[in-house]
Amino acid sequence: MSAVRVEETGELHEYEASVAGCTRCRLAQGRTQVVFGSGSPQARLMFVGEAPGFHEDKQGVPFVGQAGKLLERLLGQIGLRRDDVYIANVLKCRPPGNRDPQPDEIEACEPHLFRQIELIEPVVIATLGNFATKLLSGRPLGITRVHGQEQRLTIAGRGVLLYPLYHPAAALYTPAMLKVLESDFARLPALLEQDAVPVAAAVPGPEPQPHDAVVAPAEQLGLF
Ligand code: URA
Repeated sequence: MSAVRVEETGELHEYEASVAGCTRCRLAQGRTQVVFGSGSPQARLMFVGEAPGFHEDKQGVPFVGQAGKLLERLLGQIGLRRDDVYIANVLKCRPPGNRDPQPDEIEACEPHLFRQIELIEPVVIATLGNFATKLLSGRPLGITRVHGQEQRLTIAGRGVLLYPLYHPAAALYTPAMLKVLESDFARLPALLEQDAVPVAAAVPGPEPQPHDAVVAPAEQLGLF
């Protein structure tokens, strides 16, 4: 690992520690703990889900419930394990009753996600479901329209391939959606072989603020 990457790994851990007491939004009041993210700080592939659920809030790790088991199975199908990738969420704290993230919560939390992306420097960001897709694409198009279509974007100052996928929690209960998710997932290894996208070749991505896109109604099911 290069000296720069070692330094960035240290910075990611320092940033995580600094976020542990975050009170930027109301969700701080009801959480057990901040669920910052987990996996390899050097990952070329980063997943971004919606928000911690019950189990994630208890364990402090994203995607450890049923949706997480499916995510691990899908990763296994392309020869990867959790530790090979980095997994985070749009929100770092559990919304009460697993309700949808509110626009002001997303706005308050988004600097944490952008800083993670800056420090991890992924080549591909796979967004899971509507909230992550709308936030990171900066566009209001729902996941049904855009899943499986990679987009070259500049996010946190870096060229990345954004790859929207159905949320595993939705696919858990809808066999047809699971099939689509599996076939979209199967393209990930080829996408990962691409070199990092030069910023000049990438379309400008979302401005961290404001992000009206995420105000659009969610199509996603509240399943976790
Ligand atoms: N668990 C998470 O950590 N995030 C989700 O979006 C769903 C379940």
